[in-house]
Amino acid sequence: MNIPLVDLRAQYRDIKPEIDEAVLRVVENTSFILGDEVRAFEEAFADYCQARFAVGVASGTAALHLVLRAYGIGPGDEVITSPFTFIATAEAISQAGARPVFVDIDATTYNIDPTRIEPAITPRTKAIMPVHLYGQPADMDPVMEIARRHGLRVIEDAAQAHGAEYREQRAGSIGDAGCFSFYPSKNLGAYGDAGMVVTNDPELAERVRLLRNHGRQEKYIHLMEGYGERLDALQAAILAVKLKHLEAWIERRRAHARVYDQLLAEVGIVIPQVLDAVRHVYHLYVIRIVERERVRVALKERGIATGVHYPLPLHLQPAYAHLGYHRGDFPVAERAAQEVLSLPMYPELTPNHQEYVAQSMACFYRS
Ligand SMILES: *Cc1c(COP(=O)(O)O)cnc(C)c1O
Repeated sequence: MNIPLVDLRAQYRDIKPEIDEAVLRVVENTSFILGDEVRAFEEAFADYCQARFAVGVASGTAALHLVLRAYGIGPGDEVITSPFTFIATAEAISQAGARPVFVDIDATTYNIDPTRIEPAITPRTKAIMPVHLYGQPADMDPVMEIARRHGLRVIEDAAQAHGAEYREQRAGSIGDAGCFSFYPSKNLGAYGDAGMVVTNDPELAERVRLLRNHGRQEKYIHLMEGYGERLDALQAAILAVKLKHLEAWIERRRAHARVYDQLLAEVGIVIPQVLDAVRHVYHLYVIRIVERERVRVALKERGIATGVHYPLPLHLQPAYAHLGYHRGDFPVAERAAQEVLSLPMYPELTPNHQEYVAQSMACFYRS
């Protein structure tokens, strides 16, 4: 057997006629940047997220960066976030000119630990940027409460959490703004780079609209300097087709997670821990094991691909040496980085695949 971590080809096979029709429509129409395709997808995605506005941008990183810029967060400011995430979360903060301030994560969900936020707040703190890692929302009630008390913005990094819910609120619609990535392997993936900002704040939506397109109000009239970080029509048309399937795909991921939970608990493996009152959308199915590297090799020999998200927390990355953090600063994140293992997870996974993965794990532990 050969089981990849994700299988985008299987997904395309299932929806090929719809995708091909959408791509041809845009190519023949020749309206490639912004336009009706982008507007239609923005409206559909805002609805899906239960948010008033959605603004299509060039990537998830661009979404985070443009929201920070739109709120005027920059040099001299600090933004509190998790050290256990993809680097783009922190990059967006530094690219805006602000300083990423890390706080440790919760040992069971891998999301920011709300009890660590308040001690990290200084007079320079402007925002909190929780990440909904692996598709599970961060514990947002305490995050929102702290933000309200200190007058801080909350910018959700929902790049892995399309359709996830916290107390029946969709990820991305809880804070001041939600930032999504449509990187091809995300739960809703484009055929290239793409991203989205969702918000209930009309002024923020308007500012991000300007910033993504060179500050342009009309052709060659620029209210401010901005960026060339628009969503293009081809990606929007593809994403609009895929959005119609997203709920079905999420339900399949959740069903696969339940199957893994059962099979792997029998083997005695630490399975994902899910908060009460959240809908986890399993962008990644992540277990925790001490003998990770040996297990990875054993699974690879049996044709099973695995991933590690992420092997080195951001505070220990060479890129952030200048921030002055040290090993031991965030022990929970550091330990997670050594033990997390992502198993194959995608809607088209079959029960056979999952049993084979579980059997292979059981085999490893027996030998
Ligand atoms: C993918 C991802 C991003 C960045 O998205 P891009 O579209 O690749 O720029 C940001 N944060 C997290 C947590 C991600 O997983």
